[in-house]
Amino acid sequence: MIQTIILKQRPVGKPSLADFEFIKEDADLNIEKGEMLLEATYISVDPYLRGRMSDAKSYVPPFEVGKPITSGIIAKVIASKNDKFKEGDFASGMLNWKTQQISKGEGLIKVDRDKAPLSAYLGILGMTGLTAYCGLTQIGKPKAGETLVISGAAGAVGSVVGQIGKILGLYVVGIAGTDEKVKMLTSKFGFDHAINYNTTDDMRAALRTACPDGVDVYFDNVGGPISDAVLFNINKFARMIICGAISVYNNTEVPKSISVQPFLIKNSALMQGFIVSNYAEKFPEAIKQLSTWLAEGKLTYTETVVEGFENTPQAFLDLFEGKNEGKMIVKV
Ligand code: NAP
Repeated sequence: MIQTIILKQRPVGKPSLADFEFIKEDADLNIEKGEMLLEATYISVDPYLRGRMSDAKSYVPPFEVGKPITSGIIAKVIASKNDKFKEGDFASGMLNWKTQQISKGEGLIKVDRDKAPLSAYLGILGMTGLTAYCGLTQIGKPKAGETLVISGAAGAVGSVVGQIGKILGLYVVGIAGTDEKVKMLTSKFGFDHAINYNTTDDMRAALRTACPDGVDVYFDNVGGPISDAVLFNINKFARMIICGAISVYNNTEVPKSISVQPFLIKNSALMQGFIVSNYAEKFPEAIKQLSTWLAEGKLTYTETVVEGFENTPQAFLDLFEGKNEGKMIVKV
């Protein structure tokens, strides 16, 4: 029995389970020369998939209604007539939300489970780790002694950004949504300070207290009022790395926001959005560095692993409720 999850309809506002449909079919998947049969092992669910569920113009084409959702997946090769992959190998790349599928291996890389746990290739050694490393180093250009603030700090990207910040000698402050996450940021990930935005009435004041020397680098994963509060605390020549804006992904109207221009002008500050793939040429260096720090014990990571293919849509929805600590992953 092969199971597939398709986009049933485009979500309006907050997505729900009704936007997805399961298809089950008995099919014999026969492979031709050059092909292989893959069985999904781990599925990555990511906030950016929300954007692809809309039909608005973006940097990647939208998902088609009635077609499978696609995301980063680690899959086991269960039969192969492909020269690059043999039976028993594990492949990583963009694949359909299907328990089994045929692939020609295009865009897939082989991953080694002896070097790191398979799920790590979807997180710290995958897209989110690369996002953290490339965004912080290439746009943030941090210098030892500076102050780095991170929103969405307890998530997949944010938790890695903060740790890299500490390795590079920065003073690191994280913003997250629960007391447990705030505790984890300082105790497990070594942040200097962390703020629970859900229990803090005045984020501007809380940031002023947490960052007595002001904010030099801001790694923004959430946008909205949290990021507005950071703007009031930036230093001259601050760099704001606009990685994500999860707080507005489900908006149905253009949000009212403060004008950023006066803050940028007064502080000669930089605000730059990016897509991780902009830095593809840096990926080998980034993976080498992240792997080295992991092996040296300077970096660690956490995952929220949801069991069962059938729970993939719910795991995706839970990202918007902050139910994950670190990388949200489905174990098929
Ligand atoms: P994540 O942080 O692991 O998961 C999402 C987290 O967002 C939740 O755990 C939740 O944590 C927080 N959140 C949800 N709704 C929120 C709201 N209304 N206000 C504030 N926080 C909210 O996800 P991720 O994969 O690491 O991605 C983080 C961000 O980076 C996302 O915006 C994503 O789209 C973006 N991203 C961008 C790129 C790129 O190339 N530019 C690549 C990867 C990811 P709390 O409990 O703390 O609220």
